[in-house]
Amino acid sequence: MAFELPPLPYAPDANEPSIDKQTMEIHHGKHHATYVAKLNDAVKGTPFEKKKIEEILRGINDVPQNVRQAVINNGGGHANHTLFWKILGGKGGQPGGKLGDAIKSTFGGLDGLKEKVNNAGVGRFGSGWAWLVKTPDGKLDVTSTANQDSPLMQNQVPILGIDVWEHAYYLKYQNRRPDYLKAVWDVFNWKEIEKNF
Ligand code: MN
Repeated sequence: MAFELPPLPYAPDANEPSIDKQTMEIHHGKHHATYVAKLNDAVKGTPFEKKKIEEILRGINDVPQNVRQAVINNGGGHANHTLFWKILGGKGGQPGGKLGDAIKSTFGGLDGLKEKVNNAGVGRFGSGWAWLVKTPDGKLDVTSTANQDSPLMQNQVPILGIDVWEHAYYLKYQNRRPDYLKAVWDVFNWKEIEKNF
């Protein structure tokens, strides 16, 4: 079966005022939908069309070279956005469970994590993502990737990601990426984020 655009798990205005309704509609219904369509084009008629996108990205060097960059861009775009929609729609607050403990011991708490992730997002020149990831030895780390590169290609597990492409915030925030980064934390769904750990 071909890859499919997952429905948003909430109404498009559910993340207001942090993320406005029109941005959500265009971001999900146009940008993410295009990544899915182009991913399907890239893997059509190959064994990769039956695999999970996470599995493909973890083994990205097994993807034939003539379509590898298309899979990195559009498969990464599909995986990154699928995670992003899932971890929004909440009310922010504090992380709990084992992830909450790990954030405390690694970053001193939520404020320390926020500062690191937002600095990674502000520091990403051009388009990309800021991430909280689990490293292969089970530790937490904050990283940033360019374009739609997925942490899965670096053998990391994405726990939380913030899209810092201009399409993610420009309608409401224009050039004010730091304001967008700050506001996103108010709509994180920590119960979902904890599942990724
Ligand atoms: Mn995006």
